[in-house]
Amino acid sequence: MKSVAFHNLGCKVNSYELDVMQQELIEKGYEIVPFSQKADIYIINTCTVTNIADRKSRQMLHKARQMNPEAVVVAVGCYVQTDTEGVLLDESVDLCVGNNRKKDLAKILEEYLSRREEGDDTPIRPENKTLDDTTIIDINHTDEYEEMTLKQTAEHTRAYIKIQDGCNQFCTYCAIPLARGRVRSRKKEDVLAEIKGIVAAGYKEVVLTGIHISSYGIDFGGKGYYDGESLLIDLVEEICQVDGLERVRLGSLEPRVVTEETAKRLAALPKLCPHFHLSLQSGCDETLQRMNRRYSAAEFLESVKALRSVFKHPGITTDVIVGFPGETEEEFRKTCAFLEQVEFFEMHIFKYSKRAKTKAAQMPNQVPEPVKTQRSNVLLEMEARHSKAFRADYLGQAVEVLFEECKKIDHTEYWIGHTKDYVKVAVAASAENLANCFKTVTVREFLTEEIVLAE
Ligand code: SF4
Repeated sequence: MKSVAFHNLGCKVNSYELDVMQQELIEKGYEIVPFSQKADIYIINTCTVTNIADRKSRQMLHKARQMNPEAVVVAVGCYVQTDTEGVLLDESVDLCVGNNRKKDLAKILEEYLSRREEGDDTPIRPENKTLDDTTIIDINHTDEYEEMTLKQTAEHTRAYIKIQDGCNQFCTYCAIPLARGRVRSRKKEDVLAEIKGIVAAGYKEVVLTGIHISSYGIDFGGKGYYDGESLLIDLVEEICQVDGLERVRLGSLEPRVVTEETAKRLAALPKLCPHFHLSLQSGCDETLQRMNRRYSAAEFLESVKALRSVFKHPGITTDVIVGFPGETEEEFRKTCAFLEQVEFFEMHIFKYSKRAKTKAAQMPNQVPEPVKTQRSNVLLEMEARHSKAFRADYLGQAVEVLFEECKKIDHTEYWIGHTKDYVKVAVAASAENLANCFKTVTVREFLTEEIVLAE
């Protein structure tokens, strides 16, 4: 039996796809071993969201080669799409599989292994045009959604469910559309069938994920969320009907999907978690325009108000880029003022990273790294303050928690889980096994900056 080690980089969509690729190799009799162990085959599910992600992808490919010089090293996914030539010429790599071909990984791997067993271990290279034009497609000219079915995940409580792929937004700093192609939505019946299977396997919570889930269904010929028709909300309403499913959580959202009407529809769904990741990127209109983000700060605020008017304590989180080309002190001040006004539960702060083949990379007035760092520190301090305030609202309150794992913190064992609005809660471990269990507990104090302690 051949041993396979996987390593995943990047987003929840990559995690979902890795879980399915792993599942299929297990069904074909491969033994999955930890990446730290010597394996016959190494599969790296790459990412290209930033230069650092590219570098980490290359590092993991080279590490695999060092771990076992005889191994078959397979590069998969986004970095393979955006730097195909570079990966194909990388001596560490034997086989490359692009996006929209992950469902065929097992077949492609078996074809390669049988060729190798026949004594032909010619690695895939541009010059020997054998498998490469079947394992890496022109992702920008496909309208096929790559149907894969998840049966189990590494986690045991929450399952990420992919509902769409690709993005048509072309934000000027982002290379993802180049790696993932245009919007391709998954058939509703396939999503529902997968969720029913996952619930039957014991999962209580699903997280709907994709590259741009707000665009769900725009390729079905309908209008689209920017014209007030959100097939995403229709899908969420149907998913909430699935028996045995307890919680539905949404992945990252485009603010314009959230209107007064859609917020009311979401609030009418008891299973829906009031946890909304609305990707902002900047609180300054001038910066938003250069980013090609299609909303103003005022419109974004409308979406936040719509959610806060129908949900008691929604956990609203966001992403912010600092140091975008041309971001002046004045523009940054506007962003800070906007963030102070909204007071997000959590903010993911990113320093602008120049990406090849993106418009922003060519823009004048690139911001020096020390300035990016200084601005990032300002927002990190703000994030810690706002985030703590949001958690502090629960002191003395009873909350329902779905417990996920038992973990040691400062030499003490705790069961850890999340509230519906995504606050992390710990209770001291006892004989009771709380794995994948709901329990209502009362929050007493902070255990750490990010975890509250309850009993
Ligand atoms: S919405 Fe913008 S940032 Fe998000 S994947 Fe699409 S292009 Fe990238």
